Amino acid sequence: MLRPPKDTIGNLKVSCVCHNCPSYGECARNAKETFFCFEGKANCTLERYGCVCMQCPVYKTKSLSGGYFCIGGKAKTK
Ligand code: SF4
Ligand code: SF4
Repeated sequence: MLRPPKDTIGNLKVSCVCHNCPSYGECARNAKETFFCFEGKANCTLERYGCVCMQCPVYKTKSLSGGYFCIGGKAKTK
């Protein structure tokens, strides 16, 4: 029987939807920076044009709060 995939950081990272975000600029896209809620602020400079983290499966799975982790840094997990 197949086991469900483990809830590892690597498995969660592929679910990140930052690439669909209006704030996700060309710099971050080129650098393939994602998963800011766990990995911290982007090295690229991003402007606040909206944040789609609330629509992300990781956000729900990990019960995150807030947003703009690319600018503000890692999420505080409950
Ligand atoms: S909550 Fe935001 S930063 Fe974290 S994985 Fe989802 S889209 Fe990416
Ligand atoms: S952390 Fe939020 S604002 Fe930043 S790129 Fe990801 S979805 Fe957009």
